Amino acid sequence: PTVGDLVLEVDRVRKEFGGLVAVNDISFRLRAGEIMGLIGPNGAGKSTTFNLISGVAPLSGGAVRFMGDRIDGLPAREIARRGLARSFQHVQLLPDMSVLENVALGAHLRSGSGVVSAALRLDRTAEAALLREAARQIERVGLGDVLDQPAGSLPLGRQRIVEIARALCCDPIALLLDEPAAGLRYQEKQALAAVLDQLRREGMSLLLVEHDMDFVMNLTDHLLVMDFGTMLAEGVPADIQRNPAVLEAYLGG
Ligand code: ADP
Ligand code: MG
Repeated sequence: PTVGDLVLEVDRVRKEFGGLVAVNDISFRLRAGEIMGLIGPNGAGKSTTFNLISGVAPLSGGAVRFMGDRIDGLPAREIARRGLARSFQHVQLLPDMSVLENVALGAHLRSGSGVVSAALRLDRTAEAALLREAARQIERVGLGDVLDQPAGSLPLGRQRIVEIARALCCDPIALLLDEPAAGLRYQEKQALAAVLDQLRREGMSLLLVEHDMDFVMNLTDHLLVMDFGTMLAEGVPADIQRNPAVLEAYLGG
């Protein structure tokens, strides 16, 4: 897609857990070259919305379209294969393995056929290609200098960027990140924001779930605010920042 093209369309998406409506008919559109932020208090339904889009949990209603095609109902792996990648809220790296191995393994698990074949059945050529692709993505996010270090030896901020490199393998069209800045120090947030900004300039689409308002204010083009499963507000960050309903949800919640 070229910048401005419609990439992801979330259309009245709904999720019920028993009697609880965790996501209540949420709609939005994400375009190529755009960073959108999804914010809201704890329990607002942000992670659930991500899970619905990425195929981790089935929808109770609505539709998700990616590059013009319905993707709701498809397995998570197929959605990733089509170019919609995601990270999870908690770091999922293997601490004793190198950065390169972590990225290569993660890429293989997403693209390929499971853990056993990852460990046993990958032939030399396929393995070399996978390592080349992993190294390329690690360079892309500026971590070429720590490629051979154990992932667990890196500060948390750099571990988060390793996770992003892993999600970037096979060049996804869009990337969903769940609270990438959580627990990071100020300088680490700045470094992370620089990587995400670079990806945007490369034409990718990003959707960030964030609790940290300051982080999304400077980085995103458009903000969605959820509260109690519904869309409380949406717009450019400057407007959201002074929206009374948003301030109330954050300060009152
Ligand atoms: P957020 O990411 O905005 O903090 P979540 O999407 O994790 O919020 O949760 C939204 C609501 O749905 C919360 O009330 C949460 O307790 C509930 N919820 C999330 N996942 C499940 C689940 N698997 N089963 C039951 N309730 C859930
Ligand atoms: Mg969450």
